[in-house]
Amino acid sequence: MKVYKFGGASVRSAEGVKNLKYIVEDERGGLFIIVSAMGKTTNALETVIDHFMAGRRDEATAEFAAVETYHNGIIAGLFEDAKTPAAVQKLYDEVRAIIAKESAEERDFERWYDNIVSYGELISTTIISEYLNSAGVRNRWVDMRRCFVTDDRFKYANVDMDASGERLRAAVAEGAADGVDVFVGQGFIGATTGGATTTLGREGSDYSAAVVASVLDADSVAIWKDVIGVLNADPKIFPESTFIPELTYRDAIELAFSGAQIIHPKTIKPLQNKNIPLYVRPFGDKFASGSVIRGEIAAPIEVPILILKRGQVLLQIRPHDYSFVLEERLGDIFPILERFNTKVNLVQTSAINMSLSIDRTRRLDELVRELESRGFFVTRDEGLELLTIRGYTQPYLERYSRVPGIFLAQRTRKILRLMRKETE
Ligand code: ASP
Ligand code: MG
Repeated sequence: MKVYKFGGASVRSAEGVKNLKYIVEDERGGLFIIVSAMGKTTNALETVIDHFMAGRRDEATAEFAAVETYHNGIIAGLFEDAKTPAAVQKLYDEVRAIIAKESAEERDFERWYDNIVSYGELISTTIISEYLNSAGVRNRWVDMRRCFVTDDRFKYANVDMDASGERLRAAVAEGAADGVDVFVGQGFIGATTGGATTTLGREGSDYSAAVVASVLDADSVAIWKDVIGVLNADPKIFPESTFIPELTYRDAIELAFSGAQIIHPKTIKPLQNKNIPLYVRPFGDKFASGSVIRGEIAAPIEVPILILKRGQVLLQIRPHDYSFVLEERLGDIFPILERFNTKVNLVQTSAINMSLSIDRTRRLDELVRELESRGFFVTRDEGLELLTIRGYTQPYLERYSRVPGIFLAQRTRKILRLMRKETE
């Protein structure tokens, strides 16, 4: 069994879906296809949920109508009769019924979010499964709400691997009994044991693919993307980027953590545990091998890797009473950060000062006030970015850190990290 994952950008148009078919049509020996919502559907559904939560039914309905129109356009390019398949229409109707009938309380926001936003993946996989069947790629649509068992941490649910494994294996065995060995399931979604739909966090489809691969003991996972594979830097930001054919799991985790948008950070662990290789392959070139991420690689990566994380805030925290920040106050600071769900990307301390690079958050004012009320002076600089260079060399050091406008620099033998004003 292999697992293929296709992201929203790949299936944003009828051409994209046809290309997906072209990629999967010759596969033999079992294939589990995980698909995200088409194009920017998840964002659009987030707008639907915002209107819905605020009681703006007409706006919610209108926004959802646009989602329908978008998908119907893709359907028109895929099916000869250009008719919306009944199974897709049913999903549209379910969303409309929720918007029309229900009213939501703010405290249930996350639950409603999952309920509605999950339709992006339900719709995309239904269209793709029907299309593949109509085009001769016999497959079975898998409802991941019945396969991925999660806790009830809505919007960021955690998957129960054992329970999910049992259900997934049963679904695959059922298909096999009917002679089907291609499966199409949704990324990003699952359900609680009570049957409430959950989502796994934005961009979570990579993770879904990794979990499926892990519990099915797949031979490999391929994430098909609009890049030739893993590059040492985002070519939109660093024009001199180069292709990296092989990476270790550890390289990949570090990359994902420092903000490389190549794979979701949670993806690696389930694969590493079972030593399943992860391929990053170009959607536009079925025969190119792309990059592979696995336990052992032939040669360590030679080129420095550059990762830029935007939207950073530099917080500098100093106790009023001159107590030593590391020894005496660490235990006060971190619980507060945790309570505000702050994503900390870098920490640097001196005797009485702690500097942090954190993701910009809506609750920044509140967070700063809380720290101040606990006896700290806090300064903050916003609009910064964090540049990480793994495996930097002397020329990189010169070029990036010996320049004006660096707010903070941190350097180990291998890794150079710099905070600077956000570039365009
Ligand atoms: N559709 C979801 C999102 O856009 C999940 C994913 O794409 O991985 O966040
Ligand atoms: Mg997406």
